[in-house]
Amino acid sequence: MDPSNRKIRTALLGWYDREKRDLPWRASRDPYRILISEFMLQQTQVATVIPYYRRFLESFPSVASLARADETLVLKHWEGLGYYSRARNLLAAARIIDKEHGGRVPDTHEDIVRLPGIGRYTAAAVLSIAFGREVPVLDGNVKRVISRLLCLDENGRTATSEKRLWEAAERLLSRDRPGDFNQAMMELGATVCLPKSPGCGRCPVAKLCLAHREGRQEEFPPPKARVKAEKIEVSAAVISRNGKTYIQKRPADGLMGGLWEFPGGKLEAGESPEDALRREILEELGAAIEIREKLMTLRHSYTRFSVTLHVYACRLGPGRLKPTCCEAWKWVFVDELAAYPFPAANVKILKHLAEQAALKPQGKRAGAKASARKKN
Ligand code: SF4
Repeated sequence: MDPSNRKIRTALLGWYDREKRDLPWRASRDPYRILISEFMLQQTQVATVIPYYRRFLESFPSVASLARADETLVLKHWEGLGYYSRARNLLAAARIIDKEHGGRVPDTHEDIVRLPGIGRYTAAAVLSIAFGREVPVLDGNVKRVISRLLCLDENGRTATSEKRLWEAAERLLSRDRPGDFNQAMMELGATVCLPKSPGCGRCPVAKLCLAHREGRQEEFPPPKARVKAEKIEVSAAVISRNGKTYIQKRPADGLMGGLWEFPGGKLEAGESPEDALRREILEELGAAIEIREKLMTLRHSYTRFSVTLHVYACRLGPGRLKPTCCEAWKWVFVDELAAYPFPAANVKILKHLAEQAALKPQGKRAGAKASARKKN
């Protein structure tokens, strides 16, 4: 046994016991709650996850309640958290756990990695934290801490580099308290050993850290090539008919799959936002539209691209709708839109529509709804 690894484990666990943050998923060893937190924490920061985690568990407190839930409602609880395939995978996983494992989260690597959305990291996190299994975790924070602690010139960018980091994590792991040790490594990366300006002065393993000893902590891990976010321009139509608005559901297997949206699409080179909108609606819905007014221009950044979205109030031209690019479509009243999960940029449109509707006198709104019901 490497004595310095033993010292690292002791120092880190002692620090974790004293300093760990009071996070809601740490209040329980319930494997279901830990599973939910690990799905939400994939690619997402702790502070963002906390309110989502609480709301989600209020609505779906058990595997059985989630397994029976409607996908739209689950996605609504995920709205704004991003990476929506996680929500669909979590729902699918809950249904398998309910049906094939009697409602109990599996406690073996073999069974848990068969569930949708569970890779090596999530499996290791759930197995070690919920069941005390001796498996290391390796997320972005742990990779950075290991690279610095051991002066390993690895960032996990290639399969070989990733393998070396997993091997190092395996050697460091505490066999007595694997779940706490894994959480301590992640906690150190999230709160002390930060990507820029690591807090070595308050680090519990500073005396044992090779990079710090050599004054080279800023050199590890080696930088990854940055991918520049693509900029795209999109037009979207808020099409109204008889007091209702048209929305459609994105295909389940694509980006933001299963969410609802206002129809529209990307501008082609040299195209104006209005021309792009007429073309897209004709292609997607098989119908001509009349653009009445511009409602807003908004900007929203996703991880890999940033969008400028031009939003127009529109009316349908003559003819019947034949939507071809969506999983489902509906006409809904403005005050019913909030029940559907939308991508973050579309949520800003909803807010605008709700504000506009609130400005209308109450009697006028109720009258419009009643007459729309008669026509529909
Ligand atoms: S001493 Fe500094 S570089 Fe080393 S693990 Fe601690 S914070 Fe990170």
